[in-house]
Amino acid sequence: MKCMSIIPVVLLSVCVLGASGCDKKKETAAKGTPTPTQTASEADWCAEHGVPESICTRCNSKLIAEFKQKGDWCKEHNLPESQCIECNPDLKEKFEAMKSKTGK
Ligand SMILES: [Zn+2]
Ligand SMILES: [Zn+2]
Repeated sequence: MKCMSIIPVVLLSVCVLGASGCDKKKETAAKGTPTPTQTASEADWCAEHGVPESICTRCNSKLIAEFKQKGDWCKEHNLPESQCIECNPDLKEKFEAMKSKTGK
């Protein structure tokens, strides 16, 4: 009975490590479509909200409909589920990693 509490913690950390392996998608910058207002992907970071600017629903409310359509929406926190750190604390690490990659 003593050891029981350790097991879920170990499983959880294994899951987190395993999940981070799947995130190694190459960020494909859409080249060939030069946008004068936005300078490629390195500027794609909303420091205010801690997510990439291109998916920041708080800066770009037009995105909300898209996320809702995909079913990726947390009504409780008014955020896409995939950005809702309150519901998915693991996302914080993910976005931190993205930030250190993009933000200089
Ligand atoms: Zn923002
Ligand atoms: Zn939420």
